[in-house]
Amino acid sequence: MSLLTIGTVAFDTIETPYGKAERIVGGACTYISYAASYFIDQINLSAIVGADFPASEIEALKARGVNLEGLAIKEDGLSFFWEGKYHLNMNSRDTITTDLNVLADFDPVLPESYKSSAYVMLGNLTPAIQKKVLDQLDGSQKLIAMDTMNFWMDIAMEELKEVISRVDLLTINDEEARQLSGEYSLVRAAQKIFEMGPKFLVIKKGEHGALLFHKNDIFFAPAMPLAEVFDPTGAGDTFAGGMLGYLAKSDDVSFENMKRALIYGSAMASFCVEKFGIEALKNLSQEQINERMKQFSLLVHYTL
Ligand code: AMP
Repeated sequence: MSLLTIGTVAFDTIETPYGKAERIVGGACTYISYAASYFIDQINLSAIVGADFPASEIEALKARGVNLEGLAIKEDGLSFFWEGKYHLNMNSRDTITTDLNVLADFDPVLPESYKSSAYVMLGNLTPAIQKKVLDQLDGSQKLIAMDTMNFWMDIAMEELKEVISRVDLLTINDEEARQLSGEYSLVRAAQKIFEMGPKFLVIKKGEHGALLFHKNDIFFAPAMPLAEVFDPTGAGDTFAGGMLGYLAKSDDVSFENMKRALIYGSAMASFCVEKFGIEALKNLSQEQINERMKQFSLLVHYTL
């Protein structure tokens, strides 16, 4: 099955307790696409970059089988830029800079072949752009998922809620779930968010894993305990890419299969944080992914 991915394709400057990386390639859509590429070969990417974006990085995405027909390159613009600094615990970070650059006037025009993508992952970016993409779909989608962040809740809450009302699955972190719902309890927050439209909700809790909510059911996927976390940037997007990639591959959106998809998402995210930026996601083998899935199974297996 095919997967449409949208979001930022960007440059990031990242500072963690392990060091600083200046202007490395990042962006929500980049992480989502790399992660999903280990599950399916029909990934339709829609994003925008400036003339500063390296051709070699575009080739690297192509080499992973990502369809870049929907990648706009604005010759007189600069790519989206984000700078963040992580606190010592690596679970929280401060955004130092967000330069929208070419994203500010991105008007995505989906290639005809993208419009019937069976699965859609609207990565984190301007809600108005997420909406424009939804408006162009042909209505045949099996599952539409979206991610967002506090940045957009702060400046575009009404537009964001409109997009949320049109998706099946929302992924956000715990603080964002509280901000969006006005509820401290995540269980209550989930019920409020269901009233806004989505049938499924994933609440990401960084190194403490992720929760999947559907009706009155809850499933918990841990994060892999790792000796060294170098850079958590993109873990949430990688999680979403792994999850949607697996769902598109298995073409089954039952709650039971979503549980498995959540663990695949956690497995992909565990690779992502082991290196700076997208480095760890460029050359994984199927064996490495299978091995990590086994470790997850051992991590949560017990007998009553
Ligand atoms: P995550 O760590 O999963 O939240 O994703 C980090 C990625 O999101 C970075 O590579 C950034 O380029 C990108 N990013 C940061 N802020 C935003 C924003 N406001 N909108 C879209 N993408 C963003």
